[in-house]
Amino acid sequence: MFTDSHLAPYAAQSSLSRGRRFQEDAPSSRSAFQRDRDRIIHCTAFRRLEYKTQVFVNHEGDLFRTRLTHSIEVAQIARSIARNLRLNEDLVEAISLAHDLGHTPFGHAGQDALNACMKEFGGFEHNLQSLRVVDILEERYAGFEGLNLSFETREGILKHCSLQHARELGELGERFILKKQPSLEAQLCNLADEIAYNNHDIDDGLRSGLLTEQQMMEVDLFARFRREVMQLHPDVSGRRAISETIRRMINYLITDLIQTSEQKIAEYKPQTIEDVRAAPAMIAFSTQVAQEAKILKQFLYEHLYRHYLVNRMSHKAKNTVREIFAVMLAEPNLIPPDYRVHRGHDQQRWMMQQTRRIADYIAGMTDRFAMREHRRLFLIEEI
Ligand code: MG
Repeated sequence: MFTDSHLAPYAAQSSLSRGRRFQEDAPSSRSAFQRDRDRIIHCTAFRRLEYKTQVFVNHEGDLFRTRLTHSIEVAQIARSIARNLRLNEDLVEAISLAHDLGHTPFGHAGQDALNACMKEFGGFEHNLQSLRVVDILEERYAGFEGLNLSFETREGILKHCSLQHARELGELGERFILKKQPSLEAQLCNLADEIAYNNHDIDDGLRSGLLTEQQMMEVDLFARFRREVMQLHPDVSGRRAISETIRRMINYLITDLIQTSEQKIAEYKPQTIEDVRAAPAMIAFSTQVAQEAKILKQFLYEHLYRHYLVNRMSHKAKNTVREIFAVMLAEPNLIPPDYRVHRGHDQQRWMMQQTRRIADYIAGMTDRFAMREHRRLFLIEEI
């Protein structure tokens, strides 16, 4: 029998969950959040993460992070912090593993292109799409659409949301309107995500040759630990030295996050998760570390995410998404039957529904599937 008794009083307790959209009996041998995590691991969208990328496109190399390995790294970082703060590890694992489920193929380039295509039809936000995946798009249960996850897991998945969309989301959208916080577990996953990608993007950037160690030495956060490694291990260089540096950076960020969050929790003294929701954010880096992380982010933005070779790939990726969307909108008979919406009398309503289904279809594609689908739509040799 599981128990939440080891958790802090302000942690999310599965026995006090706000529940699922469709009533289900509590499982006897798992907590509600363990069950959520298990449902996420078994879903189709989770397996697709293996072939979706963030910075590099899937076929560029076998050793770069994919959305799947990224999500596992986020879960690892979030769990180790959660255990220190006596937060709910099962919940942070569920949120971490699900947080990127709604991402399009080709990372941010794909997201930007799809959002532009959907401009007239309500836009496309990957956070909302992640929620749509777990609430509606997964088809696994006889009694309901989606995975029927607990409120707290869904709350954590919906990291950002425009006010317009928040109003349509009922209880889940309330916090964006009332400017309240989500659980500490959700706050934590947000920052664990940042720790994971900042560090693995350095690793992948150096591995790909788009970044050099010499360039990275401009960033104090990296340079400090790289010099420490040099002093401790003068004979170590190359990949081993980079790994030694990055693991020190991750440890530094995690340690600061734990200490700063402990101080804030001690300051605001939340007694329950509702106190957490009403107080300012308590999971945070110190001012100094937040500034260092910001500088690193800016560096990666300029030197990696906007590298001309990455730009070239992003350009092609955007065209791929844009062209699939455009041809399906112009010729709805090219859309696979599962994604086709019956055209009734109301043309405007049909357009809204049909474009949303095209967006679902495209967002669900892996990088390689999108490339193949593009060829199948435009090259007569391809069937
Ligand atoms: Mg992420």
